[in-house]
Amino acid sequence: MSEVRIADEVKSRLSPTIPVLRTPKTVQILLIRQMHDYTILRTEETRELNVAVTPISITNPAQRARVVFLASKQKAPETREFASLIKEYYRYYKISSEAEKAILECEIKDKLCRACPRCTLFGAVVTDQKRPIWKQRWNIKHRIEYSSAFSLEAYDLISENITFNAVTESTQLTEQALGTTENVTPMTNFPSIISLNSPTWEELVMVIKNLLRCKSYGAEGRTKGDTVNYITGLIFGNEEILTSLEYVLELSEPEADKDALQATYKIAQKYGKMATFQEALRILSPSELENFVDYVQRLQLSREFITKLFKDSLDFGKQIEALVKE
Ligand SMILES: [Zn+2]
Repeated sequence: MSEVRIADEVKSRLSPTIPVLRTPKTVQILLIRQMHDYTILRTEETRELNVAVTPISITNPAQRARVVFLASKQKAPETREFASLIKEYYRYYKISSEAEKAILECEIKDKLCRACPRCTLFGAVVTDQKRPIWKQRWNIKHRIEYSSAFSLEAYDLISENITFNAVTESTQLTEQALGTTENVTPMTNFPSIISLNSPTWEELVMVIKNLLRCKSYGAEGRTKGDTVNYITGLIFGNEEILTSLEYVLELSEPEADKDALQATYKIAQKYGKMATFQEALRILSPSELENFVDYVQRLQLSREFITKLFKDSLDFGKQIEALVKE
């Protein structure tokens, strides 16, 4: 299928506008997050990586320790990048709306506007009732879901302790060793899944573009954490078809295809057979996926596109505000 035809087909499967009530429509984006530098994946100051013990593969119950890339650590940079990306285009096209001031000042996590595409997709819990443009107290439930990803490789093969020192500039003497951090080594792979509930075409495009441009994860981002996201699958359905743990355990099967797109497609087909709503299921083939991702990558964000993106989220806010007043 050509790039344009596959884009049209995808568009036809999505919601025309943001529904006030969630619909069962689900889009799962499968990806492999590949570390291209030393990366620190830990919670707080233990200086140790987050590790979980899982089976070796879907058919081999023997244990394997894997590094965990927590859902919150994937979401945090992506929601920030998403917010800055949409604001950049809002300013670039000089789009104006009654919520303009709130949209441009929308800030995670205590100044959320409830009117911008970030708030309507990632959710917004309003704590400060003085600021919001909407008078009533209501929150937005997120329609994007993350789950923790587990390293494809075993923990002992991809963890490395790095000691850092303080060097005095004038003498070039190392005064002291400041400590050690535990790092994930470059080329570690984290199969990961993001699930979207009832996204619009504009939202899906923005999420994919955002994933492709997000390049920094984990702690100490100034010097570490370069990561590249490769999109490996796209599944449309009325439910979530597979989890990221199932995804990594399937990829760990010795006979899994060495080509990531082929392997992912076979896995998606296997789990698709267990779907409850077969009539709603659509899995892009590897060539369709490549065409689609190329299309999204090259798609220039026009004024019409950005205007629609912001109009949808504003209209959504207005509808909720009206419902609260009733
Ligand atoms: Zn906002």
